[in-house]
Amino acid sequence: MQEQLRLLLDLQEVDEAITGARLKQKKLPEQVAAELAAFTEAETGFVEAERTLAELEAARRDREAQLDDQGAHMQRLKARLKEITNTREYQAYIQEMDGVQRAIGKLEEETLSILADIETISEQVAERRKEFDTHREVYEAERAKVDEALGHIEKDVETFKAQRTERAARVDPTLLKRYERIVAGMRHPVVAINDGACGGCHMNIPPQLVSEVKRAGRVHECPHCQRLLYVPEQVAGQTTGAGH
Ligand SMILES: [Zn+2]
Repeated sequence: MQEQLRLLLDLQEVDEAITGARLKQKKLPEQVAAELAAFTEAETGFVEAERTLAELEAARRDREAQLDDQGAHMQRLKARLKEITNTREYQAYIQEMDGVQRAIGKLEEETLSILADIETISEQVAERRKEFDTHREVYEAERAKVDEALGHIEKDVETFKAQRTERAARVDPTLLKRYERIVAGMRHPVVAINDGACGGCHMNIPPQLVSEVKRAGRVHECPHCQRLLYVPEQVAGQTTGAGH
């Protein structure tokens, strides 16, 4: 029975190695969370600046179109003015031309202001683009490191799994079934009794049961958590050890 316990502990050791590797794999992406956040923020800033620039370009095209319209209107008025002989009608035309001229002046002012904004925002777009590229490079480099580490861990897991298959094959099938049932629900299915308490759930084990475990006729379970129990002296000596 001691031999079986040792085999179970070897199996447990490799299962722990697999669990540890899986936990590492889960945690690794957190290492690039800050870089990802900075990259996403830089991307948003760049996209927003680009959108502002596009809006300004649209406003500029709108003013240009209006200027074309008003310019054409002015040309028509000027052409008609030459044909007018009536003084009152002439005055009305002059007034209308003044109005159009004011509209043109306002549109030209607006265009100048928009052009100035376009210049400013174009610089911002270039800056944001640079920031975005920098953060993307940093993130991608860090991400590549994490991916590489994940790949190494995956290889380790493959090795551990192969070890597990070997080790499980050496365990008594009935005992293995009990172990597998426990390990499906909790870690450390095999625990030592320390000072009369279960090493898994830390509840006291009845002295009678402790004696039975020591006699080692068969592997007993903790009455509280159902883990498989042993006393340290049963397995004194070397375990094979899982590779890390
Ligand atoms: Zn227990």
